[in-house]
Amino acid sequence: MTYKAEYIWIDGTEPTARLRSKTRILDDGAELPIWGFDGSSTNQAPGKASDCVLKPVLSVPDPIRGGDDVLVMAEVLYTDMTPHKTNTRALLREVEDKYSADFEPWFGIEQEYTFFKTGAPLGFPVGGFPAPQGIYYCGVGADEVFGREIVETHLEACLEAGLKVSGINAEVMPGQWEFQIGPAGPLEASDHLWLARWLLYRIAEDYGVAATLDPKPVAGDWNGAGAHTNFSTKQMREGYDPVIAACEALAAKADLHVKHYGHDIELRLTGSHETAPWNEFSYGVSDRGASVRIPWQVEIDKKGYIEDRRPNANMDPYIVTRLITDTICSAAL
Ligand code: ADP
Ligand code: MN
Ligand code: MN
Ligand code: MN
Repeated sequence: MTYKAEYIWIDGTEPTARLRSKTRILDDGAELPIWGFDGSSTNQAPGKASDCVLKPVLSVPDPIRGGDDVLVMAEVLYTDMTPHKTNTRALLREVEDKYSADFEPWFGIEQEYTFFKTGAPLGFPVGGFPAPQGIYYCGVGADEVFGREIVETHLEACLEAGLKVSGINAEVMPGQWEFQIGPAGPLEASDHLWLARWLLYRIAEDYGVAATLDPKPVAGDWNGAGAHTNFSTKQMREGYDPVIAACEALAAKADLHVKHYGHDIELRLTGSHETAPWNEFSYGVSDRGASVRIPWQVEIDKKGYIEDRRPNANMDPYIVTRLITDTICSAAL
């Protein structure tokens, strides 16, 4: 007998990388092999030397196919087995190794996304606009909520795959939703987020719906889509001074972070729609108009975590969790 392994990797599409996957049939009990693909079709290699290597780094039960089948997260390598330049996971591995013992960093990532059908967000009337924002966030009922069946199926699939999904909610614009991953270490949270994204696209596909991470799917008075990134170290979970120090560390490197928090970030971080301007760093307790929010409960408990509200929905979690870990932990040494 055999089983199916769906190898999933991140391609070289610019400015925002996309997910790719293909299926390998393996003998029962066989280990996941190193594999390869045509990098000239994914913007990862020239046609004359097109082979790229797939190295399995994580496998989880495949909730779509079921049985013994698996989803496999793979890193992209050159044929000499060094990390490909698009392999942002390899860089995160180094930073996690450097800081995990002293700081035990945790991430909780809120992935917002928007369903599209025939060129418009799900729930938008053909050729027009729905009633303005205000009723849709965490709404209920067919006039407020669009795509719940896909969302529920996706949640169930994430749980079956063993992903650390921690919740879901309907968002501010019709057809816009969120799921949360974490808390988990940088690599685990990022791997699980990429796999959860893949499952989202794959499940929505069965409904003829495209899930997109476009940070500003509809121009004008409609919320963009972000990926608020919640972060704590062991020290922050035990006291308040490290919480403030983390905000200050982010302030000192604000430009570097914003540059790597997802393409078109300036379209989303305008200063309206629960955002701070992309070029002005601020932090505050309970403040959803700040770059970084300290949750009110954290101020009361005098310990906990912070929420970096800047990352776009289309960010690469391997990059975002690396920058945050590196910036905050190196400042605390
Ligand atoms: P919001 O109120 O901003 O919508 P959510 O409930 O959507 O917040 O997401 C909060 C996220 O923060 C969750 O993924 C949760 O697991 C995560 N989280 C909770 N505590 C911590 C912590 N100490 N460190 C990092 N992440 C945390
Ligand atoms: Mn949220
Ligand atoms: Mn949200
Ligand atoms: Mn949030």
